[in-house]
Amino acid sequence: MNNESVKFDYCIIGAGASGLSCAIAAASNGKSVIVLEKNKKAGRKLYATGNGRCNLTNRYADTACYRSKEGGYMELLFNLCHGVDISEQVCSFMNALGIMTTEIDGYVYPASYQASSVVWGMLDELKRLKVSINCDCEVIGIAQYGDEYKVTCSDKEYTASNVVLAAGSCAYPSLGGSKSGYSLAESLGLKVSEPEPALTALKIKETKHFELLKGVRAKGRVDACDRHGRLMASEYGEVQFAEDTLSGIVCFNMASLKPDRLRICFFDKVPDREIFLKHADRTLVGVLNGFVNDKLAQYMVESFGLKKSSCVSDISIKEIDSFVGHIAELEFNITGTEDFEKAQAATGGICLDQIDPSTFAVKGRKGLYACGELLDIDGKCGGYNLTFAFLSGLKAGGGYNAQT
Ligand SMILES: Cc1cc2nc3c(=O)[nH]c(=O)nc-3n(C[C@H](O)[C@H](O)[C@H](O)COP(=O)(O)OP(=O)(O)OC[C@H]3O[C@@H](n4cnc5c(N)ncnc54)[C@H](O)[C@@H]3O)c2cc1C
Repeated sequence: MNNESVKFDYCIIGAGASGLSCAIAAASNGKSVIVLEKNKKAGRKLYATGNGRCNLTNRYADTACYRSKEGGYMELLFNLCHGVDISEQVCSFMNALGIMTTEIDGYVYPASYQASSVVWGMLDELKRLKVSINCDCEVIGIAQYGDEYKVTCSDKEYTASNVVLAAGSCAYPSLGGSKSGYSLAESLGLKVSEPEPALTALKIKETKHFELLKGVRAKGRVDACDRHGRLMASEYGEVQFAEDTLSGIVCFNMASLKPDRLRICFFDKVPDREIFLKHADRTLVGVLNGFVNDKLAQYMVESFGLKKSSCVSDISIKEIDSFVGHIAELEFNITGTEDFEKAQAATGGICLDQIDPSTFAVKGRKGLYACGELLDIDGKCGGYNLTFAFLSGLKAGGGYNAQT
């Protein structure tokens, strides 16, 4: 074992969005910092965000866009956005690094629309601040000895006065997601709520006629319901149909709720009996195709038990009324979500009641901090998770003292 002779003020575990932000903040306050990263390079997940465009933050970011499995998070979030627009804080941080931002309907991206520009901007700032990032270096143990922490990797040991757990969640293992951060936290006596996949596709039970919908993308109002049919959440947006899943931002946002069924209305105005009667000679699919995608129209007809070729005049007025009821709210039974392999985030993590909301320090543990997705907090799709990772990282590092 090679003991690194230098003692650092901060040893940060994980070179993702939160760990890099934390390192920038701590070093900008004159602290000596080392970042340990198990991947071969820093910011691996960050490069892949927003399909490579990196949705940094969102103009509509507020506490309602976040969830916590065990709760107790409001104070933590309010402290991040206290009195200042939360997305503005992310943009100012980026601007201070020389990264300009641009916005589409509230979604904020780097002006380059390249996630790499964010990673490179952060790494250049760390270089300027003389922070080393040791990659290919998985932390396997942390122990506290008085006012000092010993951080152990497979072939080296580091000593630091402060340790920051910024190891992220176990979502998307192909980009570095792992349970390692949870285990390290537990080894230090912290309570961790079992992680579960979030921001991922919902698996559906239907098989009959569902194959018709494969590849269809359609906008609608999506209601997530529990097994008693009670409404859990409602959102408007695009639904994407695949082999046996429903995805798209609205469905992703509902994954952590674990709904039992979705009710979806694909119409701005549901066609009524009069509309059908006006076009009595046409097929039902033909009439519906005036409102929605043809495959969706066919699914609506066949899942009602009629043939694709059925004309309006083939069915009674009573049946038309009942058909209108069927198409107004298509119902899909949900059997679960995709697993961590395809989840963009995880619910669960280090329980928030252990975290000091103004510093992200672990309460009662001098020199121990936690930030980012490793905490029991997850945001909706749209830049909210990176927002939390950046801002919690900056706080854990004592706040960014930008170069003037
Ligand atoms: C495909 C995809 C697209 C996404 N797009 C967006 C988006 O556009 N906008 C948005 O807001 N969010 C997005 N997210 C979510 C967002 O990327 C995460 O919430 C965010 O990166 C979390 O930052 P973090 O620093 O907490 O964790 P991470 O970025 O995961 O960083 C943690 C780091 O710690 C390292 N690590 C773990 N254990 C150890 C250990 N024992 N020793 C050393 N290193 C360790 C990991 O290798 C990793 O590099 C996306 C996620 C995915 C998977």
